[in-house]
Amino acid sequence: MSNPSLLILPGDGIGQEVMVEVRKIIDWYGENRGLNFDVSEDLVGGAAYDKHGVPLADETMAKAQEVDAVLLGAVGGPKYDVLDFSVKPERGLLRLRKEMDLFANLRPAQCFDALADFSSLKKDIVSGLDIMIVRELTSGSYFGEPRGIFEENGQRVGINTQRYTEAEIARVARSAFELARRRNNRVCSMEKANVMESGILWRDVVEEIHKAEYSDVELSHMYADNGAMQLVRAPKQFDVILTDNLFGDILSDCAAMLTGSLGMLPSASLGAPMENGRPKAMYEPVHGSAPDIMGQGKANPCACILSFAMALRYSFDQGEEATRLETAVEKVLASGVRTGDLMQSDGGTPVSTSQMGDAILAELSSSL
Ligand code: NAD
Repeated sequence: MSNPSLLILPGDGIGQEVMVEVRKIIDWYGENRGLNFDVSEDLVGGAAYDKHGVPLADETMAKAQEVDAVLLGAVGGPKYDVLDFSVKPERGLLRLRKEMDLFANLRPAQCFDALADFSSLKKDIVSGLDIMIVRELTSGSYFGEPRGIFEENGQRVGINTQRYTEAEIARVARSAFELARRRNNRVCSMEKANVMESGILWRDVVEEIHKAEYSDVELSHMYADNGAMQLVRAPKQFDVILTDNLFGDILSDCAAMLTGSLGMLPSASLGAPMENGRPKAMYEPVHGSAPDIMGQGKANPCACILSFAMALRYSFDQGEEATRLETAVEKVLASGVRTGDLMQSDGGTPVSTSQMGDAILAELSSSL
């Protein structure tokens, strides 16, 4: 059987720096766990624009469609701010999401004990937190028509349309239920069925899918505004949160910050299953290209390394190895090793990007 394939797109700024550390981890898995990947690397964002005059070449897009998973660093930077909107680095990322039809965005909010003090909430509220937000990513208010700014009775009117088909709701609901089965078997679906018809349909379809295919999973519903309150009041009550594009945008950022630094946050975007049963998938840290620290060895590689852990779990069925990697990150943090974004006045050992990668590798090796 051929090795699973992985397309690496480091992108710009610290995307390139953190990906060097991920490559070390990938090599470690080949050498120590017999997990070999066919890895190819290509350009995206400003780096692709510099070479091809576009933020994503057609050949790169074609490759992304063929591989088992894409791992992306970050795109963008001040050098490209002057470019026309159509060729800005971010357009490369959007093209990947759109053409791969990555409709389910997974954003875990997990609080490593060693970093509980970074949260703006009290330690006992976030310590041990482990929730997953599943946000619908390709429809809803950000895409619905009609949209635009129109003239009406002598004044301007801004219009966006919240629109969901049953099929769009059903497929992302299935993603959430499948995930819950691999976790603690609970889904809380959030919408505003009290004031929005799209919310009523959302709730109906989620219930139908639940009844027909996932009755073993515990399902609850919550209005999204209450969901926001509950996320800061008692976030540990949740396992998987399922929600639409607009509410998910807000709720996932809120949940992410419960856990501290941007340098720690991974994400996955999943699409429909391919012929081999694996979902189309792209994994990437939540952070951007951080031009303020690029080239200085200051970037925290953990978000990107944890994104690779998500790839191990969700694309390559290597849940145990994903846990091994997450545990290694947790142990390194617990030992006080810190990149600059995680330094606090009460100490810790300051390390560079590559030293953080090496510390995680050493921890992986001692796990054997
Ligand atoms: P950013 O995430 O790049 O940085 C925000 C702040 O967090 C900066 O101070 C940065 O130094 C810090 N930071 C981010 N990641 C870090 C890490 N791994 N380790 C340590 N510190 C880290 O967001 P920004 O400054 O708003 O945007 C910079 C560029 O990145 C822009 O061009 C923007 O368009 C782009 N961007 C890209 C993505 C993406 O590729 N998915 C996401 C967000 C922003």
